[in-house]
Amino acid sequence: MDFEKPLPVATATSKPFWEALTRHEVQIQQCADCQAWIYYPRAFCPECLSPKLEWKQISGKGTLYSFTIARRPTAPFWADEVPQLIVVVELDEGPRLTSTLCNVEEGDIRVGMRLQPVFDDVSGKDVTLLRYEAE
Ligand SMILES: [Zn+2]
Repeated sequence: MDFEKPLPVATATSKPFWEALTRHEVQIQQCADCQAWIYYPRAFCPECLSPKLEWKQISGKGTLYSFTIARRPTAPFWADEVPQLIVVVELDEGPRLTSTLCNVEEGDIRVGMRLQPVFDDVSGKDVTLLRYEAE
């Protein structure tokens, strides 16, 4: 059976994040009042509730905070991607995001390892996924 993979759908709040990825840039929000870095995209700062959030370009680099190896597909859409290396990346700015690792052997994965972004342009779609590989 063939399944079409679900892709991110940008909302008014998250649109700058997804548009930056298509330019192979990582942008996240920073609060203009308390300087907190924020991910995922929001309308209000989770630290001080300010609505003054600004989009800032960052390197996207970080460290591996946690991971799991999915040997069975977590949904039919990812049956062709197992084993899927699902990771939580702690960005150098502090926020954590969920992603997948590529170009890394399973045995080389270590919590705390340095990671850098991989911009995965989805063929035929105007969408770029943020994945990670060893720095
Ligand atoms: Zn704030």
